[in-house]
Amino acid sequence: MALTGLQIYKLLPQTNCKECGFPTCLAFAMKLAQKGTELANCPYVSDEAKASLDAASAPPIRLVAIGAGERAFEVGNEVVLFRHEKTFYHQPGLVVRVKADDPKIVELTARMVSSYAVERVGMSLRLDGIAIEDSGGGAAAFAAAVAVARSAAPGLPLVLMSTDPAAVGAALDEAGADRPLVHAATAANWQAMAELAKKHSCPLAVRAESGDLTALADLAAQVQDAGVDDIVLDPGTSDPAGMLAAFTQLRRLALKKNYRPLGFPIIAFVGAGSAEEQAAMAAEAITKYAGVIVLDGFEPALIYALMTLRQNVYTDPQKPIQMEPKLYEVGAPTASSPLLITTNFSLTYFTVSGEIEASGVPVWLLVADADGMSVLTAWAAGKFDAEKIAKTVTASGLGGKLKHHKLVLPGYVAGLSGEVEEELAGWEILVGPREAVEIPNYLKSVWKAD
Ligand code: SF4
Repeated sequence: MALTGLQIYKLLPQTNCKECGFPTCLAFAMKLAQKGTELANCPYVSDEAKASLDAASAPPIRLVAIGAGERAFEVGNEVVLFRHEKTFYHQPGLVVRVKADDPKIVELTARMVSSYAVERVGMSLRLDGIAIEDSGGGAAAFAAAVAVARSAAPGLPLVLMSTDPAAVGAALDEAGADRPLVHAATAANWQAMAELAKKHSCPLAVRAESGDLTALADLAAQVQDAGVDDIVLDPGTSDPAGMLAAFTQLRRLALKKNYRPLGFPIIAFVGAGSAEEQAAMAAEAITKYAGVIVLDGFEPALIYALMTLRQNVYTDPQKPIQMEPKLYEVGAPTASSPLLITTNFSLTYFTVSGEIEASGVPVWLLVADADGMSVLTAWAAGKFDAEKIAKTVTASGLGGKLKHHKLVLPGYVAGLSGEVEEELAGWEILVGPREAVEIPNYLKSVWKAD
């Protein structure tokens, strides 16, 4: 729970020496409670008070890093229940599970997971890691599988899935420096697991059974008391309804009650049912409220859809992904090439430019500043009107470069063509297709320079 100004005041020296820049300790405490100053500005605060205040100012959900090096990812440190209240900050890591018993499959999976990448709206989307599951073949076999994965995909973050401390110990001797997430400490093994996580400075998942959050909180507190700070919670749910209930309660307890024993990111396992159930559970986990999602296999069709959803959910709702408003050359356009205009919403730009590229017709694509909105939204908001379009064309200087003076409007704003023609003297305004998918046909069969 965040401390009030009076609670902070009680922890201060109360000498009113003014060195912090405030006239009294009480004034400093009040400002600190509002997060308007820093504790470090008081040189006389005791270590004990510092520890209490640091604990009180810690984020309600701890930020936990999994992996080491370039591909490490961070989860947690979220501050809202609903994306539209502010934004979600740390997208969940998507990891693919593989059993340790077949080194060839481990190697192949590690390679595929590591190299899989797709481009969407100008960003490269990737998987985050591989979860190696102990098959019960003993510590040496588990460590060997981990070694195979590390050599096939160096730097790819790992989740080590075993409840056998001997197997986890052997795997950590192999991969401890990579800071894998260890899954899991249970009521039966938590002391040994906590020792291993502490020894190798690794994050540790704690697992309760069947959504028992009281047992989960107890376990997390025990592990933390044993010296492990980077904890991930597994409430042990395996069905969509149970997972939704448990994850929502965990998020609410952390954010609304500031309940420290459960103030950690959550891991979700979504592979218990059919492919459709796996897809539905993974989508649910992305939106509410997983930090790590373990998929049952490498299935690109599912992965691409999940990465797209994740990207959409984990962008700031107040800042649409935008393109720089300017003139883009798609292909190698000449003075006779068509001129199309659109808005600077990334998804719009990449959809339109993708279709133009597919057509094979070089095009001048003029992107107007519409605060990152799509064509229809921008038009409705008054950000993509005749005046804006005319100004954008004039500012581009294309009038002096093109042999023709023809501008193709998006079909959705066909109603603006008359007004644009009035604003842009000497230009002929054409109406292009409403949907981007119709652009290739338009460019090849309809558009003519003469
Ligand atoms: S520096 Fe510390 S002791 Fe001095 S007035 Fe400020 S809060 Fe009080």
